[in-house]
Amino acid sequence: MKVTIIGAGPAGSLLAHYLLRRGQYQIDIYDSRPDPRKISFSKYRTFPLLLSERGLNALRNIGLEEAVKSHGIENTGMINYSKNSKPQELVRRKPILTIDRNTLVNTLLEKLEEKDKNRQFNIYFNSRCIGVDFRHKRLKFKKETEEEITVGYDLLFGADGVRSVVRTHFLNTERFEFEQSYLHEVYKTVYLSRINDKLRINLEPNKLHSWKLEDGTRLLAMPQPDNTLSCGLVFKHKKNQVMGMSSKSEVREFFEHNFPEVAKLMSESEAEAFVKRPAWNFVTIRCNRYHQGDSVLIIGDAAHAVPPTIAQGCNSALEDVIVFDRILDEYDDDYTKAIPQFTARRIRDAHTLKNLAENSIPISKPLFLQFVLRRKFARTMNQLFPQFFAPFFLDLIAETTVPYSEILKSAKDWLSKVKKSNHKILDSSY
Ligand SMILES: Cc1cc2nc3c(=O)[nH]c(=O)nc-3n(C[C@H](O)[C@H](O)[C@H](O)COP(=O)(O)OP(=O)(O)OC[C@H]3O[C@@H](n4cnc5c(N)ncnc54)[C@H](O)[C@@H]3O)c2cc1C
Repeated sequence: MKVTIIGAGPAGSLLAHYLLRRGQYQIDIYDSRPDPRKISFSKYRTFPLLLSERGLNALRNIGLEEAVKSHGIENTGMINYSKNSKPQELVRRKPILTIDRNTLVNTLLEKLEEKDKNRQFNIYFNSRCIGVDFRHKRLKFKKETEEEITVGYDLLFGADGVRSVVRTHFLNTERFEFEQSYLHEVYKTVYLSRINDKLRINLEPNKLHSWKLEDGTRLLAMPQPDNTLSCGLVFKHKKNQVMGMSSKSEVREFFEHNFPEVAKLMSESEAEAFVKRPAWNFVTIRCNRYHQGDSVLIIGDAAHAVPPTIAQGCNSALEDVIVFDRILDEYDDDYTKAIPQFTARRIRDAHTLKNLAENSIPISKPLFLQFVLRRKFARTMNQLFPQFFAPFFLDLIAETTVPYSEILKSAKDWLSKVKKSNHKILDSSY
């Protein structure tokens, strides 16, 4: 059985591990990028991820959790800084993992090669999928040299992320529905030092650090094992102070004025690099099915990308793999049944995840305060009377593998309230 996976991201690489374990598939992975293990660390194409129980469980089940953890940092909470008050610390009930996306992928690929004793797995980099013919089960790729090649497949997995080419070809098939939307915010990555000995700055390594401005612009900093901070500067797509900056001195001025502590951790070269770095969008994808016939499946961001507001995109992408593995077990590797079953099993949870990611966190200040109080109340009551009070819904998402659609029950009213309020604010800003 010749299995082709398009995309060696977290979803595609983990899927290869699970399929390899089954021993009956010849697996080929194609990725449009160069081998991330062979090129110098290109920071602008990566970002840190928070991996919580769902993602860790999918790694644990195939013996990869420890290897991945050894390249990350345990995260025990968040420190919020604001201009006129003392920093506020939020402690996590259960630590989660911070890891750079490319480091996660590199670890999965290295382990895959180690395990592949029977040479059942091949990986091809610099190979962009540019065409899919579902009828004849053929794929077209463009190599780095511009050469085009065509290959056949028996089973095809599109794990090619938010701009999936495999999914694009679903659009020409019967009754496929697809929706793509953009968050009103965009982000730029920033790389800082965590420590400045001269100025006696040493930010806590096991915490997420967050600064927020009046206009909603915020900087989220995740400590990395090499004593650096990988940060995301998130700001409004329209009317922002960031996109107009065109020189190193403007960048320094912006950070010194808005985030003075952060400016002390920024090198001159980083200020220069920041100007040239592109801003990225947060894209949401919703599909009405993930399979095409009985031999093609899309997983991860290709099927259900969500903004990282509740840090679940990668977690759910990794969880897809374990869901599909269980279906293969149930159907004794009869993929003609397993592939359509994936849509049936996963679609409610994926659609619910979109709702949770878009509507858990309010934009309005009074409603955000209500969110903080609700969380505090729910946590205290759950701690005191666990038999009567369920955990806070976001804790259930991060700390358990309870399906998203079940978690929704306790959060439905809150999500509709936030949705209404957020829409009102966003509609008035256009
Ligand atoms: C700033 C930011 C922060 C985030 N933080 C979190 C977080 O804290 N926690 C969390 O769970 N999630 C987070 N996410 C989401 C997470 O990054 C994604 O959900 C996750 O990477 C999805 O994995 P994937 O394998 O499905 O897709 P991707 O990671 O996008 O990988 C897709 C792969 O397919 C390849 N590819 C694409 N097109 C082609 C083609 N035509 N041919 C061949 N190869 C192709 C790409 O090169 C890539 O390697 C964050 C996202 C962003 C942008």
